[in-house]
Amino acid sequence: VDTNEWTADRIRAADREYVIHSWSTQGSVNAAPIAGGEGSWFWDYDGNRYLDFQSQLVNMNLGHQHPRIVEAIKEQADRMCYIGPNYAERSRAELAELIAGLTPGDLKMTFFTTGGAAANENAVRLARHVTGRHKIVARYRSYHGATAGAMALTGDPRRWAAEPSSFGVVRMFDPYTYRCPVGHPDPCPVCSGGPHLEEILQYENPDTVAAVVLETVTGTNGLIYPPEGYLRSIREVCDKYGIILIFDEVMAGFGRTGEWFACNHWDVTPDILITAKGLNSGYVPLGAMVVNQRISDWLMVNKFWGGLTYAGHPLACASGVASIKAMQDENILANTREMGERLGLGLDRLADRHVSIGDIRGRGLFYGLELVSDRGTREPLVPFNATGAAAAPMTAVVAAAKKQGLYLSANNNVLRLTPPLVITGEEIDFAVDVLDKVLTLADEAAEQ
Ligand code: PLP
Repeated sequence: VDTNEWTADRIRAADREYVIHSWSTQGSVNAAPIAGGEGSWFWDYDGNRYLDFQSQLVNMNLGHQHPRIVEAIKEQADRMCYIGPNYAERSRAELAELIAGLTPGDLKMTFFTTGGAAANENAVRLARHVTGRHKIVARYRSYHGATAGAMALTGDPRRWAAEPSSFGVVRMFDPYTYRCPVGHPDPCPVCSGGPHLEEILQYENPDTVAAVVLETVTGTNGLIYPPEGYLRSIREVCDKYGIILIFDEVMAGFGRTGEWFACNHWDVTPDILITAKGLNSGYVPLGAMVVNQRISDWLMVNKFWGGLTYAGHPLACASGVASIKAMQDENILANTREMGERLGLGLDRLADRHVSIGDIRGRGLFYGLELVSDRGTREPLVPFNATGAAAAPMTAVVAAAKKQGLYLSANNNVLRLTPPLVITGEEIDFAVDVLDKVLTLADEAAEQ
């Protein structure tokens, strides 16, 4: 027996002993060893295969082991694994140029980071320097990352563990039209954006507010889509008071909603766009802060007070270039829209058969299925949970789906359906079939 062999059991044991897992009490972690993945699927050492209906952390937009991204990383590794951010490097320059071409409006220069949180950190600091103001308006149903500053922006209860931290952060409600936070009918002053923001500014003093930060489409905290006109009215209020508008499209960007960026759906351009995840399908850690022409001009004559050892890591940038080119060559946006429509139709059919389905929200392959115990009152199937983690019967639905080969996740009472953008029609149909079976567990709980 080769005692050095990394069997599934040995991986599991070493993981349990030595790896600290995110957002968990370590004693209750029992992470399954994963042997491989390809396209929209991954599998364990026992041969169980799972359709990755989460794209892992909604980052593997081109699925597992896309050959062009893998090849680009290998080529870059052969050419140059690393050179400091103070040098000009081919993949870094090429990716920044590509991003300037793809992002809307006059978004232009990019600062590369190692992920979404670091990009948000830099955006907020830069907005404070550009405006000379300190307050930031952010929303409750939001996740902006786990570093100190990004956690302070974050509204989701994971922030509580990092408090006190939110100095200068002012909270705004979300345009959650299915459950208006103040109980208004739709449309209401909160969900229409501008009036709500303007009232907050009146009390805060707009001359002290540097930026408004929001997820164009709320991801982790429930797949909340802004109603028509929302983003535009926020944009107008920001312009009126000289406030920098930051869209966090870490999850919603790079094709997820069927457009390059979610803000394209509403034709509203932020001053700063934050992206990560789908930017390079997560093959190497990468995030980006993209700033508009005005801030680019400002940066030409003012110092940028930010830096990272791995800002613009060549391996990450090479994977980004390859990922974008693959998206273009393989018509990924068209597939996202087509598969999204197929998924939406499938979910509509399920709504006729499952009383627990309260609301279906989605564009492209960025769907949320909100489960309720009563469609009339819209009472959530499980109450809002301070940990953000799903409770029974949501957990039972997720576990039953996994048993049938469908990997998905839930936040409170919302199932997140975010498969890779390379998914096929048969795979969508398979997922809808599994959902049809497992939603009976939610229906039973709803009917009680
Ligand atoms: N912003 C949004 C909208 C996210 O969904 C996430 C991660 O899920 C982040 C920021 C944080 O990104 P990272 O984990 O790469 O720091």
